[in-house]
Amino acid sequence: MEETLKKVKEEGLETISNVKTLEELEVVRKDLTGKKSKLAEVMQNMRNLAPEEKKQVGMLTTEIKNVFAEKLDQKEQELIDQKSVLDGPIDLSIPGKKVSEGALHPITQMKYDLNDAFLSLGFEVYSEDDISSEKYAFDNLNFAKDHPARQSMDTYWLEGTEDKEGAERLCLRPHLTGGSVRYLLKHGAPARFVYPGPVFRNETTDARHERAFYQYEALIVDKNISFSSGMVMIQTILEKVFGRKINTRMREGFFPFTEPGYEIDMECLVCGGKGCKVCNHNGWIEVMPGGVIHPNVLKSANLDPEEWTGFYINIGLDRLVMMRYGVDDVRLFHSADLRFLKEFK
Ligand SMILES: [Zn+2]
Repeated sequence: MEETLKKVKEEGLETISNVKTLEELEVVRKDLTGKKSKLAEVMQNMRNLAPEEKKQVGMLTTEIKNVFAEKLDQKEQELIDQKSVLDGPIDLSIPGKKVSEGALHPITQMKYDLNDAFLSLGFEVYSEDDISSEKYAFDNLNFAKDHPARQSMDTYWLEGTEDKEGAERLCLRPHLTGGSVRYLLKHGAPARFVYPGPVFRNETTDARHERAFYQYEALIVDKNISFSSGMVMIQTILEKVFGRKINTRMREGFFPFTEPGYEIDMECLVCGGKGCKVCNHNGWIEVMPGGVIHPNVLKSANLDPEEWTGFYINIGLDRLVMMRYGVDDVRLFHSADLRFLKEFK
């Protein structure tokens, strides 16, 4: 028996050393260590041996098995090292792999178009962090201490700052308006600037609402801002975005940071004013609140309300994009569905 095993070992090692390819190596590995190998056969027949011999043969087969495994691994590494990076002949006539072409997200595209429009009107494009604080999101903007928007059901407050207040109580910004005071504190007046970006609200999603969505806010602060200059701003933007005159209407609106405030509606372009899911079946859609900056907000920005005045507009970017392309569900824009996004290329 020992003789047989010795022969198995010698032959096996010889075979391993003659292997030329990785494919061949796998065949040899199976032949030498697999279930139908000579070693396996010896093991199977061991039960017929005397106990003393059984022990010896057992040790020997285990040893051979280990030697085979080691040599096979060695050979494998050798073959991998020798293998050329370019395997086989090279055919330069085979077409290359097609690289898929990306495109700007329709909301990003809209943001760029608006930036262009505002830059041409002499505005600066300003941006700030997505994380804000109670001071910038509410206190500076004349929100009453008990205003419902301050509650956690509307605003995402950051964990660990619940017990704090003012600049130390942090949140994901629920609107962009906080950025206006930050800008004015830094740059003073007169000023005309826009500040686009995502905002976050803790609300139930439906065809018109998302938890994170994009806004685009513009503010002019100067000594003599009339209501009509705000209206010109609105018309210019809508015409720029839609390439034609858009019907709008203004309603009284109340926002803590404006006095007076307005809701600016545009005719629903999805249904042409007839009524649909997007416009809540009334033919008009609220695209931007706006209004004259509240004296208390000017005071937060260290500006004298007797001297300065200003006009805000705040565009719901997602909704404007829905209108531009006639899309009736805002959730599609954030679904990361490439089939949908490719429609805008
Ligand atoms: Zn409609």
